[in-house]
Amino acid sequence: MKDYVSALMSEVKTKNPAEPEFHQAVQEVMESLELVLERHPEYRRTKILERIIEPERTITFRVPWVDDRGGVQINRGFRIEMNSAIGPYKGGLRFHPSVNLGILKFLAFEQVFKNSLTTLPMGGGKGGSDFDPKGKSDNEVMRFCQSFMTELYRHIGPNTDVPAGDIGVGGREIGFMFGQYKRLRNEFTGVLTGKGLNWGGSLIRPEATGYGCVYFAAEMLAVRGETLGNKVCLVSGSGNVAQYTVEKLLDLGAKPVTLSDSAGYIYDEAGIDRDKLAFVMALKNQRRGRIEEYANSYKTATYVRIDPKLDHNPLWDHKAYCAFPSATQNEISGKDATNLLRNGVKVVAEGANMPTNLAGVMQFVDAKIMYGPGKAANAGGVAVSGLEMAQNSMRYNWLREEVDQRLRLIMKSIHLACITTADRFGSPGNYVNGANIAGFMKVADSMMDQGIV
Ligand code: NAP
Repeated sequence: MKDYVSALMSEVKTKNPAEPEFHQAVQEVMESLELVLERHPEYRRTKILERIIEPERTITFRVPWVDDRGGVQINRGFRIEMNSAIGPYKGGLRFHPSVNLGILKFLAFEQVFKNSLTTLPMGGGKGGSDFDPKGKSDNEVMRFCQSFMTELYRHIGPNTDVPAGDIGVGGREIGFMFGQYKRLRNEFTGVLTGKGLNWGGSLIRPEATGYGCVYFAAEMLAVRGETLGNKVCLVSGSGNVAQYTVEKLLDLGAKPVTLSDSAGYIYDEAGIDRDKLAFVMALKNQRRGRIEEYANSYKTATYVRIDPKLDHNPLWDHKAYCAFPSATQNEISGKDATNLLRNGVKVVAEGANMPTNLAGVMQFVDAKIMYGPGKAANAGGVAVSGLEMAQNSMRYNWLREEVDQRLRLIMKSIHLACITTADRFGSPGNYVNGANIAGFMKVADSMMDQGIV
């Protein structure tokens, strides 16, 4: 089986050159599937793997817009419609200068398995643009979003493809894109999730990824008779996922001590409490400032600027019990993983997508710590997006408690699927194998049912 998987991997690399993140995501899943392929020769016979790594559709397009000085700007837009075996394509839009085809393909690929784990009927997709919202006025962001949607609207729809937010795409951007979609189509439908509460959004959607990730960590601890109470936690990022991770950690009595952005991180030994979190939310969501300002306001905190010459991120070199990487892909290297383990970290729950590189993943798995990979631990966001779609279809809104309760149950069932599947396939406690195999088999069986399409 090893030969089959390695031949497939070299084909992936040849056919998709210069897409290292996509190769990494595929490799991690393939390595988990060896035993599955042995037990299910029908998957090989019908070339499920060869099909699952090939997007059903890839759309790229020009996004022209005019900046505040009257200058013409051109960005590139993408939508990867990866797999629709179990439902309409579903996955976020990312606006960040680093966005390229390979990054979106890795995200779309991960999304297929994540969505399958949620128990809801959603296929996988991802999209976005190399547009950087940082430093742009609201009017510039609006003009960009309108131009982006002027092409994207042809390819999406409530029963076809339902995008959401991701890095650089929050409530403001979803609002501008929804407005333009509605205008072009002349219909009010649940075509995007993460909408405002007044116009079809779901309660708890903004909180869902961070809350869900903490629920997942709490489940991993509960199996071992532990709780998050008084546990020191490292959190990276300071955007949507990081903010609500900190909020739920505080609810459950933990002590978050770090936050970051792409320029550096703060370490607050006294803990980030609710007042300090409110400061961060205003700083990041309204004033759109830098995390450095936290250390100017709170004397218990120190700020450390990112040093690109370092081979590690000192954020991951503090004493802690839990780590919640919530910024971006590959933010934990092999060296960072070594530092985390040396400092006594026993729980890693990934709020971000693929934040740990393959060397780091291997160390966490070998050390047998409670390591919840992103496709399981951060599935709460897309799960509540699925609940937003359900509410839109019913033209009805559930109460906050009702959505939160459903989110909790979904995270519980994802956790259970991971541990029972890992057990069944000979790697007890290995959440990476559990998530990859459970997510894969539901999609693979659906593809088998639907013939060669
Ligand atoms: P966000 O609100 O835009 O925040 C992103 C945060 O990460 C910001 O603090 C940003 O700092 C930092 N960051 C981004 N790129 C970085 C880089 N290259 N190096 C260092 N820091 C970087 O985005 P988000 O929604 O919280 O998403 C964070 C992660 O969670 C992503 O991996 C995303 O795919 C994943 N995720 C999000 C959701 C969701 O519902 N939003 C669901 C599942 C998974 P700057 O402000 O300086 O750029």
